[in-house]
Amino acid sequence: MPSKMKSIKKQAGVTRTSRSLSRERPAPASERGQETSTASAASETPALRRKAKPKVDYTSPERLQKIFSALDELFPQAQCALRHENAFQLLVATILSAQCTDERVNKVTPGLFQKYPTPQDFAALPQPALEEEIRSTGFFRNKARNIIGTATKLVADFGAQVPRTMEEMLTLPGVARKTANVVLGTAYGIPTGVVVDTHVFRIANRLKLSKQKTPEKVEQDLIKLVPQERWISFGHQMIWFGRKICQARKPLCATCPLEFTCDSRDKTV
Ligand code: SF4
Repeated sequence: MPSKMKSIKKQAGVTRTSRSLSRERPAPASERGQETSTASAASETPALRRKAKPKVDYTSPERLQKIFSALDELFPQAQCALRHENAFQLLVATILSAQCTDERVNKVTPGLFQKYPTPQDFAALPQPALEEEIRSTGFFRNKARNIIGTATKLVADFGAQVPRTMEEMLTLPGVARKTANVVLGTAYGIPTGVVVDTHVFRIANRLKLSKQKTPEKVEQDLIKLVPQERWISFGHQMIWFGRKICQARKPLCATCPLEFTCDSRDKTV
């Protein structure tokens, strides 16, 4: 086993080998019991037969199960990488993570939460003061405005508590479905949807689980394909898979346990 793969598995806390899956591509329809007309096949010219590609069912239950199994083996304990001690801290950290790495956010938030532990503290902050605190996370003016607006609304309308429904979460400034899914799933264990960040969006397209062009529409496709009891863990696993293996620029396809079923144009093997 390549040493890079060993390292990935070590970080993910994997104890079993992940190459237990057969290296076969999804079975073409003709191999899954669907008969081919001999007469029509005979009438095709050799050139036409060469062009015809077998149809692959990328969302078959069998293929999905292989993807879930591979992710389970790679990342059995996948968790949110943003440091937090409660739902409010996770909400602030998730707002800060937009267009920023979790590592960078994790450098900023411990000091921030020590100075300002409650929604009331953030609601009382002048925006320029918060901007200075979070400047290194990028887009700091917008983020400061949203965090103060969210804290103010939590205090005014929700008893300074992070609400527990998607509908209520979406009333908070700067909170869309991705942030709401992160907070409701990770902090409360409530499966309201699948987190679709840049990693999940990219991998869903590469694995042809969705052809959609917006995170919201990709999420709706994934919700139909992934059992609800997996929604939370699947999001975490896909994010770690995107960080460690199916990276944006140079995916590590040679060590990818899903290579056998991946037809992405981005493949490097
Ligand atoms: S084979 Fe490559 S592109 Fe396909 S899922 Fe694996 S890492 Fe990503």
